[in-house]
Formats: sequence, structure tokens, C-alpha cells
Amino acid sequence: MTTVGILGGGQLARMMALAGAPLGLRFLVLDSAADACAGQFAPMVVGDYTDQAALAEFASRVDVATFDFENVPAESASWLTERVPVFPIPRALAVAQDRLAEKTLFRELDIPVPPFAAIASREQLDAAVAEIGLPCIVKTRRLGYDGKGQFRIKSVADIDAAWQALGTQAESVGLIVEAFVAFERELSVVAVRGRDGEFRAWPLTENWHVDGVLSASLAPATVDAALNETALAYARRLGEALDYVGVLALELFCKDGQLLANELAPRVHNSGHWTIEGSETSQFQNHLRAVLGIPLGSTRMLGHACMLNWIGAMPDAGPVLIEPGGHWHDYGKQPRDGRKVGHATLRSDTTHELAATLGRVGVALERQAQVAPVIQALR
Ligand code: AMP
Repeated sequence: MTTVGILGGGQLARMMALAGAPLGLRFLVLDSAADACAGQFAPMVVGDYTDQAALAEFASRVDVATFDFENVPAESASWLTERVPVFPIPRALAVAQDRLAEKTLFRELDIPVPPFAAIASREQLDAAVAEIGLPCIVKTRRLGYDGKGQFRIKSVADIDAAWQALGTQAESVGLIVEAFVAFERELSVVAVRGRDGEFRAWPLTENWHVDGVLSASLAPATVDAALNETALAYARRLGEALDYVGVLALELFCKDGQLLANELAPRVHNSGHWTIEGSETSQFQNHLRAVLGIPLGSTRMLGHACMLNWIGAMPDAGPVLIEPGGHWHDYGKQPRDGRKVGHATLRSDTTHELAATLGRVGVALERQAQVAPVIQALR
């Protein structure tokens, strides 16, 4: 009996445990919150990621460890590595935890990025804005997610407010300034790399965000084959450079038909949730196969899929459940403003059918604004 340890007990760990059940796997989750939603399906060790006693108990009870949360302190990941195999390796985690290290690596690998500069003072912020131009975005280097820890500078008059909002974090987590990209679309590559270096990727996914949080994903993205190949090649290059094992996601902007890399997620990713029903093997099961060193599954798509995120509270399931390709995921979390509490995936054989299904679901759930850009992309 193999036990997979997961650091972090959110919905990603929960879906990993569900995907691992048919493989006969057991799981153990480490999370500081006793009510973490993965705990409904897997035993837990309740403790902080820096709590040595909790980490030691966790390590003693698992055969291999992985993450549902990338901001696990690098020292904790390294400490674990001395006791149990940990995938992805802590270096990949360290790079993805720091926007400066991440963007520097993208550049080294010839993966285009928007202009950026690290800053540590108000003077450096002024200089970076002058160099990069307006509009631009100040972001925390570490611990930012879902648009948190970001401030948009539209005109010189916003610089004061940006420094007031984030300046105090210049020392603790560091800051970076990036050019604001007026992108046509946001895309992501979700890919998996095995222990033996085998690489597989799902087709490019198109994503729509609201207030920095993912709202909808469509796969395959309606892009030409060359763009798809370029994006997959970037993900492969990153996987090789980081000696990566497991699922990774690369978030990209597409502007004037060119790709610019935004962020690397060293884990299964929200934009890959559609793979559960929309492809031969889900990102969750392929992540487990990779970290266990067993053969990777096919990433072939089964038609066209759209994932809709439920933020704050779950809507009525009925309108999704009555659809032939409708799939419902309730993470079993308490509703809270801005919290990801579930998602739905709608799968169809044709883009035409998928657009019609989205139209019906959008009206029934009064989510027309959420489905509208996806329907538009499917036209
Ligand atoms: P992030 O936390 O970097 O993934 O940012 C969250 C979202 O904010 C992205 O998915 C974009 O929608 C938006 N965003 C972030 N950085 C930029 C940028 N440089 N230009 C335009 N939009 C951005």
C-alpha cells in the first residue's frame, strides 16, 4: 500500500485524493486548518508547514510527498527531502515562489516575458516606472496569488498610492514592477513530466479572470496549431531546466499573436480542472503517476470542455446536472467572499453544442456575464 503525502489540504489535494483512489493509493494531508477540505477524503496531520514535529510525523507516515500549495517554505521542503522523496524538487518550488527568479529563468530559456524590474525603494519604483512605461503593475515577489499583492499604476499620480499599498512589503517579500500587457487573451499550458523525463501536455487552455481570479477556462483554446506548439515547447523547456517531476502550469498572455509568459505554477492548476472529464487522464491522476514513477496517462482530449469556477458560494447544481455533459464539483467548503468553493465542467463533442449548453446554463444560473466571453470565443 503506497501513501502519498500532500502538503496543503485545499481543493487541489482533495481532487488528487479522489483521482488516486482508483490507483489504490492512500493519502495523508498536512494542513494548519483542521477543517481543510481534503480532510473529508484523507487522514490529516494538523500543523503548520514550519512545525518540525508535524513535519516529522507526516514524513514518517508517507512514501512520497507532493504539494497542493506552492508557498510551503523552501526550508521545510528541503528538510522533508532528506527523509522522503519529494516531487517536484524544492528548487522548482523555490523558483516558482519568487516572481523575480521565475521571470529571470523565463528569460534565460528564451521564453518571452513583459519588461520587468525588481525594486526595493521608492526611488527605484520611480526609476522602474520611467523605464518600463505606463501602465504597469507592482507585484509582491513572494506570496501573491489570484491577483492579491498587486497594484496597477495607470498614471504617475498612482505611484504614491502604489508605494503606500505595497511599499511596506519591499523588505519582507520583495517587489517587482512589470509592464501592463494589453493582451488579447490569456492562455495556459498544463503539462506533466515523469521521473524519467517523459513529457506530455494537454492542449492550450484559454482563461478568463475577474478581479484577478480565474472565472472560466475553455479547452482546447481556439488558437492555431503553431501557437499551441510554441506554448507546449516553452513548458517542456521549463520542465527540463528544472528537472521537474509532476504537473506544472505555465500562464501566458497572447498579444499581437505572440506569447508572453506571466507565471509558473509548480502544481496542478485551476485551469486544468477540465481535464477530469475532458481528457483521457486528468491532471490530478497524471500528477500522481509522475511522482510515483508509474507510466503517464494519455492527455488526449474528449471533445471540447469549459470549466466555470464558483467563487464565494455554490449556485444551484440542477441546471448543470441536467446537461448530458454537465459535471459538478463542490469542494465541501464554507462559503466566503472571494473563496473558490467549487466548479462545473461542461463537455460537448462540438463547439456549437458547447456554446448552446453554456447559453442554457448561463441563463438558468443568471451567470450570463461569466459564460459570455467563452461563447464569444467559440463562435
Ligand atoms: P498573477 O497573479 O500574476 O497570475 O495575476 C493575476 C491576473 O492579473 C492575471 O491572470 C492577469 O489577468 C492580470 N495580470 C497580471 N499581470 C499582468 C500584466 N503584466 N499585464 C496585464 N494583466 C496582468
